[in-house]
Amino acid sequence: MPARDSQSPVSPHITEVFHQASHDGRQLVEGLLRQQSESLDWIDDLRNLQAKFLNQSPQQAQRDCSAGCPACCMTAQVDATPIEAIAVSEYLKAYLDADALFAVKNRLTRVTKLRIAQQNAQAPQRPLACGMLGTDGKCMVYPVRPVICSGVFSLNQNECFKAEREANAGDFSQSIPLDKFALQATGGISGSLQRVLVEHGLDGNLYELSSAVLVALQVPDCLTHYLNQEDIFKNAICTDPHSPPRKRIVPAPKFLNRRVPRPA
Ligand code: SF4
Ligand code: SF4
Repeated sequence: MPARDSQSPVSPHITEVFHQASHDGRQLVEGLLRQQSESLDWIDDLRNLQAKFLNQSPQQAQRDCSAGCPACCMTAQVDATPIEAIAVSEYLKAYLDADALFAVKNRLTRVTKLRIAQQNAQAPQRPLACGMLGTDGKCMVYPVRPVICSGVFSLNQNECFKAEREANAGDFSQSIPLDKFALQATGGISGSLQRVLVEHGLDGNLYELSSAVLVALQVPDCLTHYLNQEDIFKNAICTDPHSPPRKRIVPAPKFLNRRVPRPA
């Protein structure tokens, strides 16, 4: 999604939104994990919480987005937590027939290989369309798309088209005016989701969406294995390796743990 914004710095009011969304997101995800449910319905709860904030945005009337306007999905790399990728994979498995699912897997494989080649400087730096973008220009997984996808709104569609053109020409520096309120709320909720997953011993890193959904599609009973703390996303492209199992925890030096009585 468009991640850059040319507008003025974040106002104090907007910062409060971030903190409130972080707080509410934490409470929600902790409560859902306490239920130990192996249902992905709680992704709906997360989205409902996000919608509550999105509907309060003072910039709501200025949003210029419309259904079937795919410039953002054609250009921006989307990152998601494993749990969001699993939700997308379950949705695809539930709603696509075998041929369509096969075609999606092929597309995800192609996008993933190209992204890895780009990372290794073996392919030109050009935008790659999201693997979940349908041929009709609409998102195939709209009800379960990652929170970042449902929280980004452009205030100027033409700027999105311009940014897409420039990106295809190799210039990724174009900025797009975005609904800051929605962005802050989404950042707060996404951050809390990542943190709470990590605090519960789960993989809360961010992964490039197409590669993560591909992994989730390939692992039977993916949600169960994920909740059992198995490292099933090691073959996905990790874009923010902030926590185990991608980032090793460095143990604190022993002398910090030892309590040596001070001499009297
Ligand atoms: S206006 Fe921009 S952000 Fe909104 S749907 Fe179109 S391309 Fe995406
Ligand atoms: S998941 Fe859907 S909304 Fe998000 S980038 Fe992909 S096609 Fe677009």
